[in-house]
Amino acid sequence: APKRILKKAHRINPELLSKNAVKVTQTLQQAGYEAFIVGGAVRDLALGISPKDFDVATNATPEQVQKLFRKARLIGRRFQIVHVTFFGKGAPEIIEVSTFRALLENAGEHLAETGRILRDNVWGTQHEDAARRDFSINAMYYDPASETVLDYHGGMADMQKKVLRMIGDPSKRYREDPIRMLRAIRFAAKTGFALDAATQEPIAQLGQLIHDVPTARLFDEMLKLLMSGYSWSAIQGLRNAGLHHGVLPLLDHILDSHSDSKAANDFVRIALSNTDQRIQAGKSVSAGFLFASLLWPDLLLNWKKNMAKGMANIPALQDAMDTTIATQSKGMVIQRRFESDMREIWAMQPRFERRVGRYPYRLIESPRFRAGYDFLLLRCATGEQIPALGEWWTDFIESDTAGQDALMASIK
Ligand code: ATP
Ligand code: MG
Repeated sequence: APKRILKKAHRINPELLSKNAVKVTQTLQQAGYEAFIVGGAVRDLALGISPKDFDVATNATPEQVQKLFRKARLIGRRFQIVHVTFFGKGAPEIIEVSTFRALLENAGEHLAETGRILRDNVWGTQHEDAARRDFSINAMYYDPASETVLDYHGGMADMQKKVLRMIGDPSKRYREDPIRMLRAIRFAAKTGFALDAATQEPIAQLGQLIHDVPTARLFDEMLKLLMSGYSWSAIQGLRNAGLHHGVLPLLDHILDSHSDSKAANDFVRIALSNTDQRIQAGKSVSAGFLFASLLWPDLLLNWKKNMAKGMANIPALQDAMDTTIATQSKGMVIQRRFESDMREIWAMQPRFERRVGRYPYRLIESPRFRAGYDFLLLRCATGEQIPALGEWWTDFIESDTAGQDALMASIK
């Protein structure tokens, strides 16, 4: 039986709850179903941090859930869930509602030869649902009505010990879903917890199973890792676990210790640290910007090669962008929407050096100027571009027309 943990012990601050998530549990409970806030949100609440999204688990089926809400959409195939959307002042909030899953052994044969889960839509009990989750700290259920936590796998005790522990037999769980290895590294970086010895141990052996994961899922997981606010330490974790190979080809290149390219290494380190700081400060970071940074050292190399072959500056850059993106896509395809952001950011860079005539006045009017300018500042911070150029642009943005004219005159 799960441990029932009362408010005075778990000390979850109800102020940190999403009103919409509470609403979802209330609506389900009023309709006679069981419903709990679950997973990462409970973990974060117990750590006293504000969860970035809320998941709800229930014994209602997806169809039953859908009927209870005005804006509810069934999504997923392999793992069917319901997205309940709420519109408010800011961005719409999506609460993910999933039905208790059965244990694999009770759900029939849906495994690939390597043990990987292929299909996963057999409903089960809450008890089974808890055993299906990855880490003990991710398997706690919170009922906002009674303010109690149901803790099935000793998550609260592990939390006090600052340990990340896989539920069940770790090797088996990694074989079922190799992404769990990346999740282990990400959560360890985020919480500062240590991996329990038995949880850590099989990763060295099983790391290569990552290659069996469909690349779209791998991409999503890498994006979460890079956007966690702890990307630099997570990447160190990947490297220490030997998991970085083939995840992002550019990481292979940059992280290999025999890599002689110190400049590229520095650039990426500073880019990721900047990203982490922004995210920890609650600022937004675009994935396009992040990938533009990670691939910039490679792009610079290709650009220089093209120039050495006698191509002109701008065509050389355009061609280098194609080459860099094509090379990266052999490992993991970067989604189109991010790709166009990256291209815009890159293509803008030579324009910052063109400080003649009306060019700078026009450049600051372009819709993606801010991202391009932030990228220029990053290049200056890493020493790849001279700091004076970034400072000049900062002054230019902050000046009135007369001041801008004076700045233009200053460079002649
Ligand atoms: P965060 O949202 O901060 O990345 P999270 O723990 O909420 O962390 P989600 O991917 O949102 O991660 O998943 C929600 C919950 O679903 C997890 O806490 C865990 O209980 C369960 N879960 C997610 N992915 C897996 C997986 N690959 N294997 C087993 N359980 C998983
Ligand atoms: Mg989550």
